[in-house]
Amino acid sequence: MKILVLIGAPGSGKGTQAKQIVDKYGYEHVSTGDMLREEISQKSLLGLEAKKAIDAGQLVSDEIVIGMMKTKLQTIKSNGCVLDGFPRTLAQAEKLSKMLIEEYNKDIDKVIYINVSLNAVIDRMAGRLTCSVCGASYHKIYNMPLVEGVCDLDGSKLYVREDDVAEVVHKRFDTYMLNTFPVIAYYKHKNLLDDIDGEIEIAKITEKIFSSLEF
Ligand code: AMP
Repeated sequence: MKILVLIGAPGSGKGTQAKQIVDKYGYEHVSTGDMLREEISQKSLLGLEAKKAIDAGQLVSDEIVIGMMKTKLQTIKSNGCVLDGFPRTLAQAEKLSKMLIEEYNKDIDKVIYINVSLNAVIDRMAGRLTCSVCGASYHKIYNMPLVEGVCDLDGSKLYVREDDVAEVVHKRFDTYMLNTFPVIAYYKHKNLLDDIDGEIEIAKITEKIFSSLEF
């Protein structure tokens, strides 16, 4: 069982790259953002709580997200998983290692850091479109779907996420710098991190990630 973590600013392309890894290696894609959006669409108590934080560009509490991840880790059946958007705080990172040791008797294999600047993030998120069913991301200019407004993978409708509007994007980047940036240093120190330029062509980023995963 391989355990990978994708880390990077909002809009760095974690979700897009996670889907490439899943296609090639057959790992399971575990996105806390997707899981939270699912709770919101089901109008669960957890979803209502999470929505307030997400709409404000803040993080959902460690308690909620760690609890959700603990349940999820107990259900993984494939030969590996790609964690996309978790951990986002040092507390989550420390807890993740503990949960993995308890559940699988091992720690993370590799952390891929997709490195992008604030300018790139703003540019990308201004044009981001998301599949309403599978969560795949597209861009109005840089990564267009084959048919306008429709997901290439499952034919569902694409929409603009509520937290992809300009003011919330800035807030999400600030939240990222404050809470998630220290997690990058934490994994670097543990010698688990590969730093990948996230501003080159999407297919080239995928190639770099694949070569980094040949361990
Ligand atoms: P994402 O789809 O990964 O960009 O996540 C969307 C939003 O969900 C984030 O801006 C946070 O508000 C929330 N979220 C996702 N993952 C986490 C996490 N690991 N910890 C706290 N909040 C999270």
